[in-house]
Amino acid sequence: MKLRGIELRRVSMPLVSPFRTSFGTQTKRDILLLKAVTDDAEGWGECVALADPLYSSEYVDSQVDVLRRFLLPKLASPEGQAAIARSGAAAVAGLLHPFKGQRMAKAAVEMAILDAELRGLGRSFGRELGAVADRVPSGVSVGIYDSVPQLLTVVQGFLDAGYVRIKLKIEPGWDLVPVAAVRERFGADVPLQVDANTAYTLRDARHLAKLDEFDLLLIEQPLEEEDVLGHAALARQMATPICLDESIVSAQTAAAAIALDACQIVNIKPGRVGGYLEARRIHDLAAAHGLAVWCGGMLETGIGRAANVALAALPGFTLPGDISASDRFYQTDITEPIVMADGHIAVPAGPGLGVTPIPEVLDAVTTSAEWIPF
Ligand SMILES: [Mg+2]
Repeated sequence: MKLRGIELRRVSMPLVSPFRTSFGTQTKRDILLLKAVTDDAEGWGECVALADPLYSSEYVDSQVDVLRRFLLPKLASPEGQAAIARSGAAAVAGLLHPFKGQRMAKAAVEMAILDAELRGLGRSFGRELGAVADRVPSGVSVGIYDSVPQLLTVVQGFLDAGYVRIKLKIEPGWDLVPVAAVRERFGADVPLQVDANTAYTLRDARHLAKLDEFDLLLIEQPLEEEDVLGHAALARQMATPICLDESIVSAQTAAAAIALDACQIVNIKPGRVGGYLEARRIHDLAAAHGLAVWCGGMLETGIGRAANVALAALPGFTLPGDISASDRFYQTDITEPIVMADGHIAVPAGPGLGVTPIPEVLDAVTTSAEWIPF
């Protein structure tokens, strides 16, 4: 495979409604897309970094900068070109390994090259990753609201739409009351979980243990990302299974968290761990240890969403992911919309991602584009 170059494209997409988490409120997404052009095909990658370094240390401008200065020059070097010619996208992580962190940028460029490679071969992401299902159950992530009645209206809408699992974002001051209200209104049968995005400390353990009475599927990332030992201590003080998100940035960190009994479940986000190939390694590791995994979301466009659906079709993804339809976040997606039917989303079967940006729609939301020849 011969790479001719990579296009960096910034798009700005308004959200259908503000999305509030414990770390902030988003009203639009400023997204970096990558297009890898080879002799045979074009492939797309989506960088999941947010505009500000609030979810993780990465942010969009930093990922553009590191791609321009370090990652793309490495791939364009004679050594990089030779390795990609020999091994395709599988060579990318190794080539970029000397550069610390920057996993969201690394994931995006590997994804674009993998998509180009698979489109050239006529093979789907799902087949390449090891998907065993042709559709995946669709869960939805529900933000923080000003009042419980507002929250209940929103949850009602998502249940009416057919989502099979509800996840509530929580933070100190917005936890037991909204969870109790959702349980009371919608009953014990609704699969329900919560996500704190690192908003608590171990001193909150007794308070968090009060969530046990609500029979939640899991509590996601209650403590700071580096507080793996704290999560292990918390797991001994509450019955609700602990799921890690922000703390797991590689298969290596996943192995350590599992060995320390810091989590019983892992939320896998390819952008957070440096790519879909590393995500698959974490899936394999978790499966070997008997842990369930599920696929998280970063408000992706159809590009990233399609790839996540393919990943979530692997056999170890035994819990519904935050893989909602495009219209959960966007009025108009840049690809054909990802749709939900009967609470499920179909795994794209076409070559590569199986979806492609619609040129007019993409151009309408593009704020800048830059071609970097190899
Ligand atoms: Mg999370």
